[in-house]
Amino acid sequence: MDVVKVLHMKGGSGQTSYALNSLLQQKVISMTKPITEEAITKLYCNTFPAKLAIADLGCSSGPNTLLVVTQLIMTVDKLRRKLSQESPEYVIFLNDLPGNDFNNIFRSLLPNFQQKLTTEIGAGTRPCFLSAVPGSFYGRLFPENSLHFVHSSYSLQWLSQVPEGLENNKGNIYMASSSPKNVMRAYYEQFQKDFGYFLKCRSEELVAGGRMVLTFLGRSSQDPSSKEGCYIWELLATALNDMVLEGIIEEEKLGSFNIPQYTPSPEELKTEVIKERSFTVDRLEVTRVHWDAYHGELSPFDAVMDGGYNVANCMRSVAEPLLVSHFGEEIIEEVFYRYRKILADRMSKEETQFVNVIISVVKA
Ligand code: SAH
Repeated sequence: MDVVKVLHMKGGSGQTSYALNSLLQQKVISMTKPITEEAITKLYCNTFPAKLAIADLGCSSGPNTLLVVTQLIMTVDKLRRKLSQESPEYVIFLNDLPGNDFNNIFRSLLPNFQQKLTTEIGAGTRPCFLSAVPGSFYGRLFPENSLHFVHSSYSLQWLSQVPEGLENNKGNIYMASSSPKNVMRAYYEQFQKDFGYFLKCRSEELVAGGRMVLTFLGRSSQDPSSKEGCYIWELLATALNDMVLEGIIEEEKLGSFNIPQYTPSPEELKTEVIKERSFTVDRLEVTRVHWDAYHGELSPFDAVMDGGYNVANCMRSVAEPLLVSHFGEEIIEEVFYRYRKILADRMSKEETQFVNVIISVVKA
């Protein structure tokens, strides 16, 4: 699988699009807001740049990226007023892989963003220049010493490729409790290589004192096969395996499918940052969010009350392009119909939460 070509969230603004099914990721961004605000505050007060360059890496095609950008600009604008500073110009880069539906951001979401900025930000605020940067963040994206702040949420758990040597991970599509040891090792080594290189590239692009706030879908446990990071994919594997048993999917086809993801622990992130040596860790935190973004919300809509439906839709907007490229379009409705039922059953019996690991770092 060529991840750079294949991986993207479901584009557009239709019913199964990422744009309409990313409330969970939005919740995570809101939960992380205090850390992001603290980091941009420290950055601004230490550097007072005339042009403030901010990148959101793995921005996808939904509203969340502009939400983050708005938060960051509003924080800086409030600060510069308080400190009687002139407004910086804002230079904003939205990055994702080339297959991302950038146009959905610019066509459908940008007008609202611009209007919000003009109404909520007062006189004297200098312009905000927004551009898209297609390319992998596992490589250089920006000129040397050109960025002040990097934000990335729920993107860096994606690896640059499916690790090599997973042939014996039969019946699984990710690390699972039944995966052989070499599978765990292969995933961890790919993560180390990718994240190490990510840090090196960003260290070249950030100015001295530049900062990054990176939120990973991760785990708190030391054990990489713990349910925290793996269960959501194990249940999708259950749906796929059932379809193999019924002859709808070929066994070899499933045997050669593995998700290019790694859900790291806080210790694993810290180890890589220390090893790479360009950054110091300012904060490292773990939060949790229920699988169903609507969990505990009062809503008049029936669909919202069906956790299985909500989680299956959220996962579909993330995984559909990967599944289509490997198995073809035909199986998609059936897979997600089954997944929804499996999810609903498990969620009625167990506490199901995603673990978020947030690391805030400063370039030395
Ligand atoms: N930050 C957004 C989107 C998260 S979805 C939010 O919080 O809602 C994860 C995004 O990361 C996807 O759009 C995916 O295409 C992107 N991504 C994954 N690997 C990437 C890579 N190597 N380079 C750039 N973007 C990547």
